[in-house]
Amino acid sequence: KSGYVSLTGRPNVGKSTLLNNILGEKVAIVSPKPQTTRNRIVGVKTLPDAQIVFIDTPGIHKPKHKLGEIMVKEARGSVSEVDIILFMVEPEEPGRGDKFIIDILKDIKKPVFLLINKIDTVSKPHVLPIIDAYSRLYPFKEIIPVSALTGDGIDILIKNIINYL
Ligand code: GDP
Ligand code: MG
Repeated sequence: KSGYVSLTGRPNVGKSTLLNNILGEKVAIVSPKPQTTRNRIVGVKTLPDAQIVFIDTPGIHKPKHKLGEIMVKEARGSVSEVDIILFMVEPEEPGRGDKFIIDILKDIKKPVFLLINKIDTVSKPHVLPIIDAYSRLYPFKEIIPVSALTGDGIDILIKNIINYL
């Protein structure tokens, strides 16, 4: 099995941390060569039963200026060409920036997993209402609490990705 997975979310939610954790040392880091602005391949995770290509997207945010608009366009493009989209959020109620991204995801008919990151900073009961709130906004295929920092939930994430490939 093999496929492409893109990681998106507001700046600072932990996308790079997650990629570093997943890819670890057994990774062929593909240098982000100045290619056709489509997408930036970050790395390939090779497992006994699957090969997963992770694509980093420029953080999607509400454009405040022309450059922002261009970056958002690029991000939209890169998420539309993958098998699975990982949408990463803070362990908080959805905010305006998150809803802005969800609106973009609604136009793209791809399976989206919600990753609630930084669960090392909150208690379990705290996460339940967040899962609830996000479920009302979008039909996520999977909702997976993770900690990109400690690695918590990453094995479950990888299993679920392989299931969808
Ligand atoms: P990005 O902008 O989405 O790529 O976010 P980064 O990966 O650069 O992370 C932003 C900040 O959040 C950094 O200070 C990270 O150390 C921190 N961070 C990322 N993941 C976690 C996590 O799971 N738990 C905690 N406590 N901090 C995290
Ligand atoms: Mg980053």
